[in-house]
Amino acid sequence: MATQTHLPDHVRIKHSNRARRLALRLDPKERIINLVIPKGVSLRKAHDFAKYHETWITKALMELPPALPFDHDRTIPILGADRIINIDYDKARKTTDIKLTPTHLLVKTNKCDPSPRIERFLKNLAREKLTEMAHAKATDINKPITAIRIGDTKSRWGSCSEDGKIAFSWRLIFAPTLAMDYVVAHEVAHLIHLHHKKSFWNLCRDLSIDFIEGEYWMRNHGAELMRYGQKNK
Ligand SMILES: [Zn+2]
Repeated sequence: MATQTHLPDHVRIKHSNRARRLALRLDPKERIINLVIPKGVSLRKAHDFAKYHETWITKALMELPPALPFDHDRTIPILGADRIINIDYDKARKTTDIKLTPTHLLVKTNKCDPSPRIERFLKNLAREKLTEMAHAKATDINKPITAIRIGDTKSRWGSCSEDGKIAFSWRLIFAPTLAMDYVVAHEVAHLIHLHHKKSFWNLCRDLSIDFIEGEYWMRNHGAELMRYGQKNK
């Protein structure tokens, strides 16, 4: 009988028809590592592969910026300003009420764990803000946006399709104003140029407050946006 090898913690198996070889991929949103197993490769071989790369796995997880759950008294940046989360819990309260002030995120709740509510509130706020920003920039270049979708993508902060549909990650709400503005400008510029040639960057520059700073921040800190609202595992 074959002995059962066990996987390192926080490694999840992912069978893939497209993958050509075994691979370990960090998922910063779920804070786990996916062990990608191509067709025809045995589980045993995959386990050996993960075992062999255990040091890399530990290091990759350790280097993730720490999760920042939506806890009472925690400070998180929302729309370019630090806000202190204030959770006022009362079991007898009828509904949850959330309000964003210049300094606080005030949460009056009847739930012991209001984080899903907070996330929904922030997603709606992100939708409102990103939609407003995108339409304003699209109006400047006289190009209609046909639809805006707010999602929770793992690696792309925004996208734009040929038919004028734009998508953004709600997590941009935690980014500095310049960075959020840059991502919006980038996608709106794609309404005209579906490439990254010079003409695209010229338009992107014209549409943003400071696309150099914004792009720099997203490239160097973008991954940190994943940690908000996550629980440490
Ligand atoms: Zn692009």
